[in-house]
Amino acid sequence: DPRIRRIASSIRVVPDFPKKGIMFQDITTLLLDPKAFKDTADLFVERYTGKGISVVAGVEARGFIFGPPIALAIGAKFIPLRKPRKLPGEVISENYVLEYGTDCLQMHVDAVQPGERALVVDDLIATGGTLCAAISLLERAGAEVVECACVIELPELKGREKLNGKPLYILMESH
Ligand code: IMP
Repeated sequence: DPRIRRIASSIRVVPDFPKKGIMFQDITTLLLDPKAFKDTADLFVERYTGKGISVVAGVEARGFIFGPPIALAIGAKFIPLRKPRKLPGEVISENYVLEYGTDCLQMHVDAVQPGERALVVDDLIATGGTLCAAISLLERAGAEVVECACVIELPELKGREKLNGKPLYILMESH
């Protein structure tokens, strides 16, 4: 798809951020190009229209940028999956392992009903720990996770293998 090339070239790579050795994929420059941003949303919307998805769950923070345009276009609700102590209602939590230490995602328990079909959205999959936690939250609430969608995959980290067979759709790989 020719749109992918424009999207890829709009993403800035920042060496040694947030620490030495990391090549940070910065999607804020994609957001500065309205055509690239629209094409990104359109590619996901084209894939998920008519798939019976009732829930789009976005992972804090950049899943809050790419998730809502998809939800609005396909007529699904949007659920924020947030870092601890941000959501005011009753939550369920999933801890996951980072390179150094652990992190946690939370979801409002009443945001999803058993049997709903969910799509999980984030900007990037690295080790897969974040998406794995997101899948667990939705499944614990009784939803069926149909697919995970990211703009970028870092394939060397093999995060895809951590998703317990859940399909992962990406727009591009980064090396
Ligand atoms: P994982 O849990 O190791 O797959 O890391 C994915 C999470 O870290 C996502 O929420 C990403 O937004 C974030 N992340 C990791 N590396 C990058 C990067 O290079 N650019 C933007 N986000 C990143």
